[in-house]
Amino acid sequence: MTPEILVIGGGIFGLTAALELSARQYRVMLIDSGPLPYPLAASTDISKVVRMEYGADALYMELVEESIAGWKTWNAEFGEDLYHQVGVMMLTHAPLMAGDFEYESYHLARKRGHDSQRMDSATIARRYPAWNAPLYVDGFLNPTGGYVESGRIIEELVKKTKRVGVEIIEHETAAQLIEREGRIVGVQTEAGHEFLATEQVVVTGGAWTMLLVPELANFLSATGHPVFHVKPSDPDLFEARHFPVFCADISNTGWYGFPRHPHQKVVKIGNHGIGQKLNAARDPRVVTPDDERRLREFLRGTFPALADCEIVYTRRCLYCDTPDGDFLISRHPNRPGLSVATGDSGHGFKFGPVLGRIVADAVEGLANDTTSRFYWRDLSAETYADASRWLDDTRRHS
Ligand SMILES: Cc1cc2nc3c(=O)[nH]c(=O)nc-3n(C[C@H](O)[C@H](O)[C@H](O)COP(=O)(O)OP(=O)(O)OC[C@H]3O[C@@H](n4cnc5c(N)ncnc54)[C@H](O)[C@@H]3O)c2cc1C
Repeated sequence: MTPEILVIGGGIFGLTAALELSARQYRVMLIDSGPLPYPLAASTDISKVVRMEYGADALYMELVEESIAGWKTWNAEFGEDLYHQVGVMMLTHAPLMAGDFEYESYHLARKRGHDSQRMDSATIARRYPAWNAPLYVDGFLNPTGGYVESGRIIEELVKKTKRVGVEIIEHETAAQLIEREGRIVGVQTEAGHEFLATEQVVVTGGAWTMLLVPELANFLSATGHPVFHVKPSDPDLFEARHFPVFCADISNTGWYGFPRHPHQKVVKIGNHGIGQKLNAARDPRVVTPDDERRLREFLRGTFPALADCEIVYTRRCLYCDTPDGDFLISRHPNRPGLSVATGDSGHGFKFGPVLGRIVADAVEGLANDTTSRFYWRDLSAETYADASRWLDDTRRHS
């Protein structure tokens, strides 16, 4: 039977949308290029940060508060702690100042009743011995937050989505949208198969989205970001109890990372910066010697005990960037039958438990707390939403 809703893409945006739309009594089908979890998908990884810190931006903090409750519910439902509340530590080279990402994040979290604790070099040295403490003079630890095992979550969500009756078809890549009588009614795949829907086609294709919806190529861009897995020679130093999720003066350096992974036994470190513009389907995704040189430089300065450790895995993973860093979750204003949910800009996974309702509302044309920020909008970005991102100054304060 033809589904009412066809979802293109089985990452965190697509699977949570399919689950919620199915819960709203739609017949839903989802197709994806890969086996799921798709190895090249942004969602497929060993860990993703769950932080509520977004500077003075209360909307994202509220959404993360709601998401953390959802992650805990899924821990119980999946019978395994895939969300680890190990705390998030944000440290800075200079004292916190009004207007700064860390200052505004700290004060908003306190105002909202979170128990964030201020840090100075002496406290860092005493409690977190892996850090080169004199280099970090200020910051805070928020005990609410941590990381989630993203690839494992996708595995569980695929099972859950099939359990509720959503038909999932893998190894099918949508090559073009099918339009009939001025309405989008389905897709044709690279294999030449047609998949139709009676209500809506929802494109949740991550960094590939603009390849299927070309008019978005002026709004969305795929950018590649390096990720490293380092094997610590002194593992205990990097255990979560004294090495929580960290952001090392992130808005000025981009560096962030995780405690030693409970299963992979590695310390994952990434850089939340401008990235390298790439075509998701065509361009190679490599981590360069220069990326590694910059990592070693950072480690030498901040985590001396990791500076010469073995890098056992690297990956260049893709963001789907919007000009303002806010997601794009919306019906298409000029193409009836088509909705898109993407534009993660490198910070979408943490919202997994709330993405489904936000996307389903957009598909149904219902307004909610995010509509004014995530709906179809023009290109001229006044400000950049994710204040933690290390961007060149021209982008941040235009
Ligand atoms: C290096 C890196 C670090 C990150 N760190 C964090 C973090 O710490 N915290 C956080 O909250 N977020 C983080 N993110 C962002 C997070 O990973 C993304 O927001 C999220 O995973 C995006 O999910 P998605 O479903 O939009 O895309 P994806 O997970 O990429 O899934 C898209 C899916 O669509 C499929 N697809 C695409 N086109 C087609 C087509 N034409 N036909 C069929 N299938 C198609 C693909 O096969 C894929 O499975 C990070 C991202 C990167 C790259």
